[in-house]
Amino acid sequence: MSTDEPLVRVDDLQKYFWENDSLLDRLLGDEPVAVRAVDGVSFDIHEGETLGLVGESGCGKSTTGETLLRLQDRSDGDVEFDGRSVYDLEGAALNDFRREAQVVFQDPFSSLDPRMTIGEIVTQPLEIHDWPWTDPGVETRVEVRTDGISDDIVTATAADDIDKLVTPTDGVATAHVTVRADADVERLAEDVAADHTVDVADGVVAEVEEDLTVEVTRDQGITVHVSVDRSTGELRRNHATGLLDRVGLSVDQLDRYPHEFSGGQRQRIGIARALALEPEFLVLDEPTSALDVSVQAQVLNLLDDLQEEFDLTYLLISHDLSVIRHICDRVAVMYLGEIVEIGPVEAIFEEPKHPYTRALLESVPRASTAEQDRDIETLSGDVPSPRDPPSGCRFRTRCPKVIPPADMNIDQDVFRDLMDLRERVEGRDVSLETVGDGGEFEFEDGQVSGGDVDAFVAALKDRLLDRKLPAEHDAVVEEALAHLAESDWDGAAQRLRETYESVCERENPPLAVSHADSDHPAACHLYDASVPGEPGSDDYQTD
Ligand code: SF4
Repeated sequence: MSTDEPLVRVDDLQKYFWENDSLLDRLLGDEPVAVRAVDGVSFDIHEGETLGLVGESGCGKSTTGETLLRLQDRSDGDVEFDGRSVYDLEGAALNDFRREAQVVFQDPFSSLDPRMTIGEIVTQPLEIHDWPWTDPGVETRVEVRTDGISDDIVTATAADDIDKLVTPTDGVATAHVTVRADADVERLAEDVAADHTVDVADGVVAEVEEDLTVEVTRDQGITVHVSVDRSTGELRRNHATGLLDRVGLSVDQLDRYPHEFSGGQRQRIGIARALALEPEFLVLDEPTSALDVSVQAQVLNLLDDLQEEFDLTYLLISHDLSVIRHICDRVAVMYLGEIVEIGPVEAIFEEPKHPYTRALLESVPRASTAEQDRDIETLSGDVPSPRDPPSGCRFRTRCPKVIPPADMNIDQDVFRDLMDLRERVEGRDVSLETVGDGGEFEFEDGQVSGGDVDAFVAALKDRLLDRKLPAEHDAVVEEALAHLAESDWDGAAQRLRETYESVCERENPPLAVSHADSDHPAACHLYDASVPGEPGSDDYQTD
């Protein structure tokens, strides 16, 4: 299915939102602050493929989808659709893109206008894009099959606009007509009329396979003509009826309103609306997350079937790994505006590389009781703000594998705790006045009074750390915390940084290909052999 050239190519896409950027802010001298929702994302999606974009809420998945569809302006980077930058498109070319790339929204309750009937909702895009279309450059043709009649006496013609209803192949729209003679021609006509349009003349039945009108006349020979013989409104309503039928809704529901449908049915309506313009590419933005578990699988199966039937390409955005596994070919894992790992779905689920991907997979509940007691590598800390993302690797503030300095012999758990301690000190996220029992340490001019520094440090250490540290690290922590007895936050942070600074905070790891896995890169220094003196090498043990 896939070709060499991707249908969608996203290249270093950035989308920043700006705070403190109003005229008043500028008059007051406030600096604008960038909220880096999407920060340098790159991936390809090939024709017929489903790429999953997975990550926690707020990681930038939906903004990526909206920006690549041009529903949001980009801050930088590019998106190519079918070889053309979508940001360069104007006029008819932009209209074509809007038709070819559609979206199914997360919330089937708010994405449908409650004042419109289902028929109006599904036909609205057809009206906006003036469907059905005809192209004067398309040739029209009729292929005739005969039954009981000689081919030589049949002449067939097609109207110039049958490409309104027949998809052209290589610039030719072809209608298929069967011409039959039968003793009981009226009965035969009734039989075939159930599925196809027929016409009868002097003992001859002409039947057209496509949704067209056929006329047959008998004179010297037999003449067949196919055409589009219905009003635009009728064609649109028929098209909507066919789509509703295809997504599993009854055609007699066309004149009903959204509130009369369940969540699953509304999402089916949203899917029918997205398919109305015969798109090539769909962004599915959490298409099942607002649905009951019982109907999620039905909607996913429907999307799977429609992809096959209509040759669709999907970008599936979801926070739910089971949804991703159900339907995707490849998966891109996003964290705080960046892609941290991308690869085939089996590789991501069976051999995840990035510690964040592992943590996401660990957090999926297991049905097997044997697995329920497994050791879970939990994530510490909160998701940092995209206004002020951490330096280096953005996952370092929560990473259970954060890399210690090259010459340091330290347990991973101890190092993680020390990194958390540093985080709090650097963020000044400790209330010094309440250290000890009931605020037993008094501060005068920012200093612990009464020479109680040692007791203050012991009490503060007790509060900040749940474990007893090895002696060498205990000494460093005590030196650092002693600075806080003088409210010297910078001194405390500096003492911890000079001992515990990690490569993970100095350099943001690229989405590097390693270990010959050209289709499964991960942005983590554990896989980056180019970081000198760090454990990023082929023989480094990541477990
Ligand atoms: S680079 Fe460091 S902090 Fe980031 S995921 Fe890898 S080990 Fe963790």
